Amino acid sequence: MESKNKKYSVCIIGGGASGLFAAANLLKKGLSVVVCERNAKVGRKLYITGKGRANITNACPANEFIENVVNGKKFLRSAIYSFPPEKTEEFFENAGVRLKTERGNRVFPQSDKAADIIDALLKACKGADFLFETRALRFRISENEDSDLPKVIALETDKCDIFADSYIIATGGVSYPLTGSTGDGYRLTCELPLIQKYEIVPPRAALCPLLSKDSSAELYPVGLSLKNVACAVFKSERDNKPVARDEGEMLFTDKGVSGPIILTLSSLINREAFPLVLSLDLKPALTREVLDARLLRDFELYKNKELKNALDDLLPRSLIPYLIFRTGIPPEKPVNSITKEERKKLLSALKGLTFTITSPAPLSEAIITSGGITLTQVDPKTMRGKLTDNLYFIGEVLDVDALTGGFNLQIAFSTAVAAITAIAQR
Ligand SMILES: Cc1cc2nc3c(=O)[nH]c(=O)nc-3n(C[C@H](O)[C@H](O)[C@H](O)COP(=O)(O)OP(=O)(O)OC[C@H]3O[C@@H](n4cnc5c(N)ncnc54)[C@H](O)[C@@H]3O)c2cc1C
Repeated sequence: MESKNKKYSVCIIGGGASGLFAAANLLKKGLSVVVCERNAKVGRKLYITGKGRANITNACPANEFIENVVNGKKFLRSAIYSFPPEKTEEFFENAGVRLKTERGNRVFPQSDKAADIIDALLKACKGADFLFETRALRFRISENEDSDLPKVIALETDKCDIFADSYIIATGGVSYPLTGSTGDGYRLTCELPLIQKYEIVPPRAALCPLLSKDSSAELYPVGLSLKNVACAVFKSERDNKPVARDEGEMLFTDKGVSGPIILTLSSLINREAFPLVLSLDLKPALTREVLDARLLRDFELYKNKELKNALDDLLPRSLIPYLIFRTGIPPEKPVNSITKEERKKLLSALKGLTFTITSPAPLSEAIITSGGITLTQVDPKTMRGKLTDNLYFIGEVLDVDALTGGFNLQIAFSTAVAAITAIAQR
């Protein structure tokens, strides 16, 4: 096998968001860097972030940032406080990218082009060696004279061996595998010939739609988007304490539900046992009593109409047939003959229309992978794996994930800086 004769200070496996950010910052410290990337070019996932606009960070204070982390809140504290969102903004502004902040503190390049972020990173990586179409296969390790921990001495790839003082795994998760993230980082780590093994928290889909068998019902309102609704997820119909709840916008899809609040909920519930029950409150701003009074008023107004034609003031047209179907009331029933019992059923459907959630969408379609390298085996200050002397983990390969809004890219950048700072200090 061909061998790169040069010995580098640092070998980075993966030229994605975290790997490129690490490389750029290592070069600033005067260290020699090689990036091993299995694709023909870097940043394939970065290119599609924020619908091609790259929501690179969230301009909120570090404490608020941590609230948006789902897994790894405690672990990420040090990295986020040491390298908070404003430092990311500073980095890109200094690299010549003009930024703008949109609703919810979401930061984007002013050009709305993720490609500009990749170009800026590549420019900042000038001086690093890039090995493209080179897939990392396994590490070679040996005993270490300077420490009790074994040391990685080489990375074997499908093209050559790479030698470095330190190795950074920046291979991402397993979602959107066409971008290059197929879980190689987990395999590389698990297959290390160590007595105590690195462990992987099983990867799960996060920030993704939820699947529901109810979507196959004939009147299910596929394509309908609802604003200002609330969704709560319960372990069963009998539970009254939700596992998670959110308010905002949602969407009915041909396979279940999606939209902003569903993406959030998917991250909060993906470690629960499925099936789960999703309860949709169509009128979260109104109490049952107020809504009942509203129904009575509308029924008085439309007393000579059929039920299916009497709910337009309350609901979008395409939802009415499905909602009535779920109550079991005949849609043609005249409003003036609706019983109190039937009105109660309508009220219950309006305040808690339930759906059986069978699972999250497939992991390959998830925006984020939840799960990854177990955090107890990584030092949160340096991102150094605790079972080896010179192996670091950054970005989505770790068991960390956050909600939408630029938090996940910031995690990639902050963990990269934690690792490179520690490496530079060695
Ligand atoms: C559709 C979509 C939109 C998103 N939008 C946003 C957003 O707007 N804001 C936000 O904060 N987050 C967003 N994210 C999440 C964000 O993109 C990721 O969290 C981030 O890219 C993770 O960075 P990473 O460096 O850990 O992994 P990645 O960016 O996935 O990079 C991993 C790299 O490693 C390479 N690699 C893998 N295995 C090997 C191997 N064996 N050998 C060599 N190279 C290898 C891959 O080819 C890849 O280039 C989005 C994700 C998706 C899928």
